[in-house]
Amino acid sequence: MKKMGARVKVISEIEKIMANIEQVRNIGVIAHVDHGKTTTSDTLLAGAGIISERVAGDALLLDYLNVEKEREMTVKAANASLYHEYNGKPYVINLIDTPGHVDFTGMVTRSLRVLDGGIVVVDSAEGVMTQTETVLRQALEERVKPVLFINKVDRLIKELKFGPQQIQERFVEIIKDVNNLIDMYAEPEFKNKWKINPAEGNVAFGSAKDKWALTVPDATKKGITFQNIIDAYSSNNKDKVVELFKKAPIWDALLNMVVKFIPNPKEAQKYRIPKIWKGNLDSDLGKAMMESDPNGPLVFYANAIKVEKAGIVATGRVFSGTLEPGKEVYIVSSDRTGRILQVSLYMGPFRELTAKIPAGNIGALMGIEGLKSGETLVEVSYKSQAAPFEQLHYISEPVVTSA
Ligand code: GDP
Repeated sequence: MKKMGARVKVISEIEKIMANIEQVRNIGVIAHVDHGKTTTSDTLLAGAGIISERVAGDALLLDYLNVEKEREMTVKAANASLYHEYNGKPYVINLIDTPGHVDFTGMVTRSLRVLDGGIVVVDSAEGVMTQTETVLRQALEERVKPVLFINKVDRLIKELKFGPQQIQERFVEIIKDVNNLIDMYAEPEFKNKWKINPAEGNVAFGSAKDKWALTVPDATKKGITFQNIIDAYSSNNKDKVVELFKKAPIWDALLNMVVKFIPNPKEAQKYRIPKIWKGNLDSDLGKAMMESDPNGPLVFYANAIKVEKAGIVATGRVFSGTLEPGKEVYIVSSDRTGRILQVSLYMGPFRELTAKIPAGNIGALMGIEGLKSGETLVEVSYKSQAAPFEQLHYISEPVVTSA
């Protein structure tokens, strides 16, 4: 009974944050294979986790972990909502899974469509690679704003035996390569605005495996130097690395960066909708989406479909209106209607039923059988204005860039 109370409290806290769109971010982690996308996502999920202890206490987290064990699922999830506090204010950060490999089924584009920002992960020992270029290019084409995480810094010390100067030079090289890609693939109005600059704090470096990360301003503030990091890894004393983690947990660096540099959904939709939606921007639907209006007509884009025992679960983004059980919707690409039966929000990797999910947020719905990923749902009375999100297109693998 006590646990139940905590759970209800957490759901209502998340609902409150979701209703205030300035406190929401929709992001993904993008990377070349093996550079640490999975490790980074899992670490964020485990650390930032479901809820702050202030809201629910440890009991609830344990409760969820037990459920996890019972179901024999892994903590890895396709979508997860993280709770993060920045400057004393709570945020819901929706972490959407993007396929790690280059695929030709449109899955990458589909997941990019529902997010506004991407943490680009680069292995510091390898540098920017082919798929870093491919996914960053796709992200920029969808007007998804990047921040950078330079990962596996331990390798520079343990394997390459770099000193402070060489570490610094390697970072400069990676940042230069990423900025060159932004220069090459971002549209003119975003090119300069979106270039990264370590002094501003939109680049973090660290080790996802050892769970620490820092931005340059963080390092200055916390008084941690490259030499301190080199000493920690050279000492053969694991506690020294754990100390790094305690002083600079990876979720603080990465999620602070997200809150600060990735636009909230309302800001992002203003420039993303004209790019990704095919309909008339002067229609009621178009205007409501440009404003992320929770009181406007419902538009939902399903980026992922999962078949469960009880039926199809469609995860996606509410671009306007409010997702609610009972609403009748028009399914644009298959020219039919259906009724939403249940609506759920993500708490960490778990889904919990909720009464409504307002515009700008990520959530899941049940009740529309036969729904496919990539489909758009529109409130049925606005059928005449309905239009899908832009036709999916595919780009080919570019030639190798500098490593
Ligand atoms: P993904 O393919 O991008 O999802 O990469 P993974 O997260 O699966 O990581 C690939 C490999 O790199 C795994 O063996 C990880 O344990 C390892 N790895 C991840 N982060 C680090 C790190 O900070 N340092 C080192 N040395 N290895 C790491």
